[in-house]
Amino acid sequence: MSSSCAHGSNAGNESQRAEDASIAKSLSRIKHKLLVMSGKGGVGKSSLAVNLAAGLSLKGYKVGLMDVDLHGPSIPRMLGLLQQTPLQQRNGIFPIPVNDHLKVISVEVLMPDKDSPTIWRGPLKIGVIRQFIADVIWGDLDFLIIDSPPGTGDEPLTVAQTIPGAQAVIVTTPQEISLSDVRKSINFCRQVDMPIMGLVENMSGYICPHCGQESAIFKKDGGKQTAVSMKVPFLGSIPFDIQLMEKGDQGQAYLLNNPAPVVKEALDGIIEKIITTANQSQKEVLQPLMEVLPLMKATNVISDNVKIAIPMAEGTLCNHFGHCEQFALIDLQGKNIIQKVMVTPPPHEPGLLPRWLGEKGVDLIIAGGMGQRAVSLFNERGIKVLTGAPQLNVEELIAHYVNQTLITGDNVCDH
Ligand code: ADP
Repeated sequence: MSSSCAHGSNAGNESQRAEDASIAKSLSRIKHKLLVMSGKGGVGKSSLAVNLAAGLSLKGYKVGLMDVDLHGPSIPRMLGLLQQTPLQQRNGIFPIPVNDHLKVISVEVLMPDKDSPTIWRGPLKIGVIRQFIADVIWGDLDFLIIDSPPGTGDEPLTVAQTIPGAQAVIVTTPQEISLSDVRKSINFCRQVDMPIMGLVENMSGYICPHCGQESAIFKKDGGKQTAVSMKVPFLGSIPFDIQLMEKGDQGQAYLLNNPAPVVKEALDGIIEKIITTANQSQKEVLQPLMEVLPLMKATNVISDNVKIAIPMAEGTLCNHFGHCEQFALIDLQGKNIIQKVMVTPPPHEPGLLPRWLGEKGVDLIIAGGMGQRAVSLFNERGIKVLTGAPQLNVEELIAHYVNQTLITGDNVCDH
């Protein structure tokens, strides 16, 4: 029998919701989130995270790099930031700037002694990771690169679930032991519904430190073949280059410090593919909004009035459409809210809400998750639906909507 009292669990739920809201708010200003993952440690996950971030920043993108690996945070070491302490204020932690376009934060800031291993106990780890993600103040970013803990356990699961809209970049080496781990990572992403941006094969072939040419001492192409057989995009291979290791040990980002041309070309190719795929997926995400806007303009509702309904719980958008506490009904004129009322829906009954909201004159619903059948029922009544919107409050959602910056992610329907 559970001994937890109702008040305690309510308080827990409330603080979890507050944390969810703060995470959603901070992440809504980031265009693309990439989770760099690997089935096991030592395959070059952190090195890739550092060089992706450095390479994207060199191209002028605003980039954040976050190290969430509680057991082996290595990003600060690789970037020579061990002596730097990020600014911490009451409202959160500010990442450390590396250059004009790149900021970095590591979970290491939460560790008392950087040289001794920290023993984290089960649920504490999950709490720390969530709290950390909620607390970092990034501002506007084009890319957030997250160095996730290796494997497919609770920690990468927490990261995947805490950062909605993230896409996975999976790193492997060409060897069979690493390849069987990568297959687990691919299945993990599929189970948690995280899109896979692609697979990178690291330490593929060898760059001779004397002549700078690639030679076939190490195996090659195992990652590429796995990508083909598992039907995952292949982003490219990075050769083994002793310089890459040495620069990492010296606290220098390889791509920012005279990389070997062959390795630079390999990394640049991977980065280009990532940029193309990220832009493509953003188009797909914005598509529903683009479909709604011309329709509203055609019916003149955007210049006159639009009535928007948002399912709400505890002051922010509620992901459970059919079970929300209240609906916010917003009358919008142009970009201005002219009226906002909160209404309590009738008890849940399939098919009832489309009629009820239709009778209230609703033109558009901004929702988190909604079943496909419900979406069709609304559409049949001429009510448009945007799904996968972040858990923000009404004013924030409407501000994003009118400024056309509302990012709608996956339809996270729980039915
Ligand atoms: P992980 O994050 O998967 O544990 P790291 O990025 O820490 O792996 O890499 C493990 C070691 O391998 C580090 O010493 C790193 O410098 C080195 N390394 C990674 N990629 C390469 C590469 N392509 N060539 C040479 N050394 C590499």
